[in-house]
Amino acid sequence: MKIAVFSTKSYDRTFLDGANLQGRHELSYLETRLTLKTAPLAAGFPVVAAFVNDRLDEEVLELLAKQGTRLIALRSAGFNHVDLQRADQLGLTVVRVPAYSPHGVAEHTIGLILSLNRKIHRAFNRVREGNFSLEGLLGFNLYGKTAGVIGTGQIGAIVAQILTSFGCRVLAHDIEPNPTCSQAGVSYVSVDQLLTESDLITLHCPLTPQTQHLIGSAAVTKMKRGVMLINTSRGGLVDTEAVLAGLKTGAIGYLGLDVYEEEGDLFFEDLSQHVIQDDVFMRLLTFPNVLITGHQAFFTREAMEKIAETTISNVTAFEDGRVENAVQANRFIAH
Ligand code: NAD
Repeated sequence: MKIAVFSTKSYDRTFLDGANLQGRHELSYLETRLTLKTAPLAAGFPVVAAFVNDRLDEEVLELLAKQGTRLIALRSAGFNHVDLQRADQLGLTVVRVPAYSPHGVAEHTIGLILSLNRKIHRAFNRVREGNFSLEGLLGFNLYGKTAGVIGTGQIGAIVAQILTSFGCRVLAHDIEPNPTCSQAGVSYVSVDQLLTESDLITLHCPLTPQTQHLIGSAAVTKMKRGVMLINTSRGGLVDTEAVLAGLKTGAIGYLGLDVYEEEGDLFFEDLSQHVIQDDVFMRLLTFPNVLITGHQAFFTREAMEKIAETTISNVTAFEDGRVENAVQANRFIAH
């Protein structure tokens, strides 16, 4: 089938071409993000392959459907950027990659925790400049600390397991507790108890209307002073202004982000020659206790292979009259 691949980077092309080795599908790579303005580029393509910051709202979907698109193949697990109801009404099938590398995302999460705590990112710069002073690099033992994991699905469960093996007491909150976590000694508690008792809090639930700004000023007030907050899930879980205020007062002692509410205009692009207009984001970068990566937690070889293979096989199945890995309009989950 003819596939218009939006938001293509060199690595997408490498892995997708690898997965389409037999050449069954005809892939056209477009570097641009999918928006209302760029959607006409997909005219005549029955399949549109989209990534996390592509726009798949009502207007874009209507145009795509009018132009002959029948399948939206998401190269992500997440679908909070798709108007599923409208897609359904328009007869557009939406498929996704339900799981690619929960271990990769969990490991990156732990990387943020360890780097922030032991200030490895700062030590790296210092040592390169011949500065071997330890002033300001004081960390704490994770052993014996209380870690709060919100959302214990595929990723959160692995994070909980790793933190347990570090000797942390792990508290969790999930609307559907995971028996594997309970068996591993994780205690399920209310969000409030988790916020109040945790020394570090890490977010692994999807972005839904219920979880939007889960971490807002009320939550920050409940947290232990100096808490470490990690978000590798979705930017919208965190009210950035509230967290900024918490950082300024010291209520939040460490912030590690791989996702950001307004990341659509920033992440995945080299903006090093541009003036970044997002003042909230730029303010975050001024804190010594904030570490941000640009939505790279998923970015491992294994994940890229899986994303490409599943995307291609989703399209193949559709061409053969089957629907694999469909995203249903009535599902609450966002990623
Ligand atoms: P998952 O569906 O396996 O797990 C999500 C868990 O969150 C489920 O157990 C679910 O019951 C729980 N949940 C749903 N609503 C909740 C609520 N209101 N409160 C508490 N828990 C709730 O998803 P996953 O594969 O583990 O992914 C977790 C998140 O990681 C995704 O939602 C996505 O946003 C993010 N993600 C980020 C990257 C990255 O590169 N940064 C990559 C993949 C996934």
